[in-house]
Amino acid sequence: MKHILRCPKCHSYGLKPECECGDKRLHCKPPKLSVDDKYGKYRRMAKESANINKESVDEDQ
Ligand SMILES: [Zn+2]
Repeated sequence: MKHILRCPKCHSYGLKPECECGDKRLHCKPPKLSVDDKYGKYRRMAKESANINKESVDEDQ
């Protein structure tokens, strides 16, 4: 699997570390990780709130 490099200056993508604009391309940091973590956080919060709601409902009944 080839790593796609991205230039932070002109935002061009390529496999060569030398960009056409003269800057160096860097490895793309997978944004999915942070997104997954973010969603995981919300999922946990949603789950906890759901559990709390469920418990409160159970107590009411
Ligand atoms: Zn560039």
